[in-house]
Amino acid sequence: MPETDLMPEPSLTVPEALTGSGKPLSVTRLRKTYSGVTAVDEVSMEIAAGEFVTFLGSSGSGKTTTLMMIAGFCEPDSGSVVVGGRDVTRLAPQKRGLGFVFQQYLLFPHMTVWENVAFPLQLRGVPKAELRRRVGETLEMAGLSSMTRRRPRELSGGQQQRVALCRALVYRPPVILMDEPLGALDKKLRDQLQTEIKRIQQELGLTVIYVTHDQEEALVLSDRIAVMRDGRIDQFDTPQELFERPRTPFVADFLGAANFLPGHVEEQTAEHTLVRLDSGGLLTARPQAAQDGTRVRAAVQPGRLALCPPGDGFCTGTVETVTYVGTLVRATVRPVGGAHSELVRLELPAGRAPALGERVGLSAEPGNVSVFPDAENGG
Ligand code: ADP
Ligand code: MG
Repeated sequence: MPETDLMPEPSLTVPEALTGSGKPLSVTRLRKTYSGVTAVDEVSMEIAAGEFVTFLGSSGSGKTTTLMMIAGFCEPDSGSVVVGGRDVTRLAPQKRGLGFVFQQYLLFPHMTVWENVAFPLQLRGVPKAELRRRVGETLEMAGLSSMTRRRPRELSGGQQQRVALCRALVYRPPVILMDEPLGALDKKLRDQLQTEIKRIQQELGLTVIYVTHDQEEALVLSDRIAVMRDGRIDQFDTPQELFERPRTPFVADFLGAANFLPGHVEEQTAEHTLVRLDSGGLLTARPQAAQDGTRVRAAVQPGRLALCPPGDGFCTGTVETVTYVGTLVRATVRPVGGAHSELVRLELPAGRAPALGERVGLSAEPGNVSVFPDAENGG
């Protein structure tokens, strides 16, 4: 028998409480400190069956620690983890009924691809015929049928990671945890495996919790994204909501690379907040509870800005740079005529590129402009 502590294995049977549960996982006020430093601070979330949820944040934001507390490899200071209605906070990892895929593949080097994938089923005493069928199906789904007799060292990094994925999928755990599983691969392979992971997840209706620091990867894969910062969740929402209604400047910046335009609230109505920008113009934004005169930053993503005739829109300026990026063009505009002249970044279809030095106006739909009190310096 190979060493089992290399790759912790979940229990032989799926806990009864999991079957037919609409809410496979809930985490309540999880906290972890390391010698006085808070790594995870009161993280709570509920994840529904079949959801693909991603923890997104920069290095050190507490993603892995949160995942390890859910997995059972790291004991929380306080808080609880409930899987399928059962409190598993103090249970050993292998008793939680969860699957894992980590960045380092952790394949058994002396076993073939087939044996690696069959291993979790052997552990569970699955009868031979069924084992053969399930291993065969899983390898086929991942496009590995032609290399079942190879050993890990005879495979590329991408192939090894696919084997690791198969090994986690083969016993159909109700929830699979993945910590930067594609982090070691090059961009092209990563794109390809992202598509495969998503396809398999949808095909099998898997519940996945995925960790990444890559915004694009999170957007491609996730039904919902928990944006983490300093051990806390800033916002837990669908990609669309995160883009359209960022709740903090950090989220607006991290996901949308937003422009932050300084100004003050000039007027509030039920439908809008009017912001007088320091660059001179008047910008209409989504309503935000703030008193007139409050210093604010209006956030708008480069892709949500449009060109208009100079003098129209919320800003008039001069085009300083134009860069083609495939079918898109990125441009920067230097506002003129106001006290504030920080560059505004915009992104347009390549066909609408302005000319260098051109004088242009900028406009934005009010629904695409968020307003944050200036004190909230989250970025
Ligand atoms: P992420 O996965 O988002 O990069 P981690 O969860 O690994 O972040 O780390 C969160 C914070 O906790 C970091 O400041 C990290 O240095 C600290 N940390 C993580 N694990 C340990 C540990 N075993 N001992 C001490 N500090 C740790
Ligand atoms: Mg990590």
